[in-house]
Amino acid sequence: MQYCPKCKINIRGHKTCCPLCQGQLQGEPEKNPFPVLAKPKVSNLTFFRICTFILILLELSLLLVRYFAGPQAWSTLLGLSAVIAWADLWIASYFRNNIMKMIVVQLYLLMLITLFFDWNTGMHGWSVAWVIPSLFLSIAITTVIIGKNKRLPLETYVMYLFWNVVFSFLQLIAVRLDRNPFPAPAVVSTFLLLVLGAAVVVFRFRALKNAAGKWFSL
Ligand SMILES: [Zn+2]
Repeated sequence: MQYCPKCKINIRGHKTCCPLCQGQLQGEPEKNPFPVLAKPKVSNLTFFRICTFILILLELSLLLVRYFAGPQAWSTLLGLSAVIAWADLWIASYFRNNIMKMIVVQLYLLMLITLFFDWNTGMHGWSVAWVIPSLFLSIAITTVIIGKNKRLPLETYVMYLFWNVVFSFLQLIAVRLDRNPFPAPAVVSTFLLLVLGAAVVVFRFRALKNAAGKWFSL
């Protein structure tokens, strides 16, 4: 404990001078009860801005290349990959406090990316036949594993499962439009998610109702 001989008071904590008279203190200062966090040299925001700037620089350079050398496959691929990497970084930093949301949003992004690449390479259907059905199941499994692992109440993440079931029906559009060369995985993944959805409705209706009420009142 520190002591001010002028004011004759004890001073708690860690002070450089007396808070009353600004005079010099005697004695040993108490240890700071809060750990002093080292400030990162480059903040997350600065890092993100640097990455955004690099992305813009790259895309502009690619436009320049396009102007002088004409459209080239490698430049399109590089430009797209950079945008995807940037989007991934944005999701990771935006949802850094909610690991479940971060992973779920990234898996949905991955779906769109595979669909996009499939579409741009002649739509052979590998995305809707294999990748997207597996990703829908992965989202449900990841959500449940993280929820159980972090001991979250079902109410906080049951809406992820709800939307997972709803979105999985979109797979049937590709089946109907004959865009899916091998529909079995899509049909099975929709079926499994429906079973999961039915289980939630039957056994955990209260959690679903509360979570849905919060969701739709917002
Ligand atoms: Zn004093």
